[in-house]
This record gives sequence, C-alpha cells and structure tokens, in this order.
Amino acid sequence: MAQASKNSRTSSATQRFYCSCGGEVKMKTVFENGKVKNMAECEKCKRLARRPSDFR
Ligand SMILES: [Zn+2]
Repeated sequence: MAQASKNSRTSSATQRFYCSCGGEVKMKTVFENGKVKNMAECEKCKRLARRPSDFR
C-alpha cells in the first residue's frame, strides 16, 4: 500500500474504438428533441451507433 495515488488513470473519456471498416469511432454530441445525446460515429463510413461498443 505504498504507491497508489498518482498513476491511477480512470478509463472514461479516452477510450478508442474502431469500426469494422477500419475507421476510428468518435463520440459526438447530438441534440434530439431538446435533449443532449452522445452518439458514436465512425469518421470513415459515417455509421452512427448509440455506443462505441456497438461497432464491434
Ligand atoms: Zn466505419
């Protein structure tokens, strides 16, 4: 229990996902019916999914 504090990275925003086409999936904020939604979009084939994990 000595070195615990500084190098503990939480894996929240910097995860990378790749579409089956090989393009990188980026998170994108979309407004829909007055609500803010986070969508995942492949920057190559422009496929949209609700979660980045849907591309796998
Ligand atoms: Zn794609």
